Amino acid sequence: MTTRVAIVTGANKGIGFAIVESLCKQFEGDVILTGRSEERCKAAVARLQEKGLSPKYYTLDIDDSSSITKLKNFVKDNYGGIDILVNNAGISNKVGTIGQRATTTCGTNYFGTLNVCNTLFPLLKPHARVVNVSSMASQEAISKCSEEMRSKFKQPNITMDELTALIQQFIDAAQNDDHEKQGFFLKPYGMSKLGVTVMTFIQQRELNTDPREDIVVNACCPGYVATDMTLHKGPKTITEGADTPVYLALLPSGTTSPKGDFVSERTIQNWG
Ligand code: NDP
Repeated sequence: MTTRVAIVTGANKGIGFAIVESLCKQFEGDVILTGRSEERCKAAVARLQEKGLSPKYYTLDIDDSSSITKLKNFVKDNYGGIDILVNNAGISNKVGTIGQRATTTCGTNYFGTLNVCNTLFPLLKPHARVVNVSSMASQEAISKCSEEMRSKFKQPNITMDELTALIQQFIDAAQNDDHEKQGFFLKPYGMSKLGVTVMTFIQQRELNTDPREDIVVNACCPGYVATDMTLHKGPKTITEGADTPVYLALLPSGTTSPKGDFVSERTIQNWG
């Protein structure tokens, strides 16, 4: 029998690191800690080994298609498929003009995550679980878009191409400082996570008609967590932040809810 495998992106530190730690304790199979820098991945693995845990690691930059393809080939050759994928890697870029921030933040959080999914989803095994780490900021973003824009994002049959076009429209508008006039929320991070949440709804809809049975995708907010991203201001520890993502990653066979939902504190949220 082939070894089961869980992959966590952006896991050399922060919430992703704690997700790997928790999965190492609870998941029967290999857990692959991924991150941009081999050095930082190795250091993270060493910290977990000190705790008696044995994650594997693989370098992955979600902004780089060739890096994603390398991971795909590695996983295909060594495991034949994927049991758990946690898309945790993300940035909150506070430097530069609004146009620059929209480009980089949506580039990694939306386009990078989508690229990982498009490349790795063909490897998902029946009963696979996918967790897209989004944010409550996505809820704020959808609620603060204009009514017209909100209805575009909330179309029940919105396609991935339509969503991608809207996120691209936001980036283009931000570069001309025209995004608020066009009805978008003003903050790039919130808009990028709005994209991640809606992406999740679309992915589940698509997977519901996939021949592989029982694949479940959910988006979540980990809560406000003390990490480098928040300048260590959040009240939650990384272990507490990992709780909901890990709960979603380990949903049992045949789960019908949460499924294609946005979840916080292990609870489905009314979104938008
Ligand atoms: P950190 O900044 O501590 O960690 C982010 C991780 O993502 C790091 O491992 C970082 O790697 C990695 N990363 C960044 N860009 C890339 C990339 N292009 N390719 C691969 N990995 C990348 O953040 P958090 O742990 O706080 O955040 C984790 C997730 O949780 C993010 O998606 C964030 O948006 C989300 N979130 C966090 C909240 C919080 O309160 N902390 C609240 C809501 C959501 P490197 O070390 O190389 O930079």
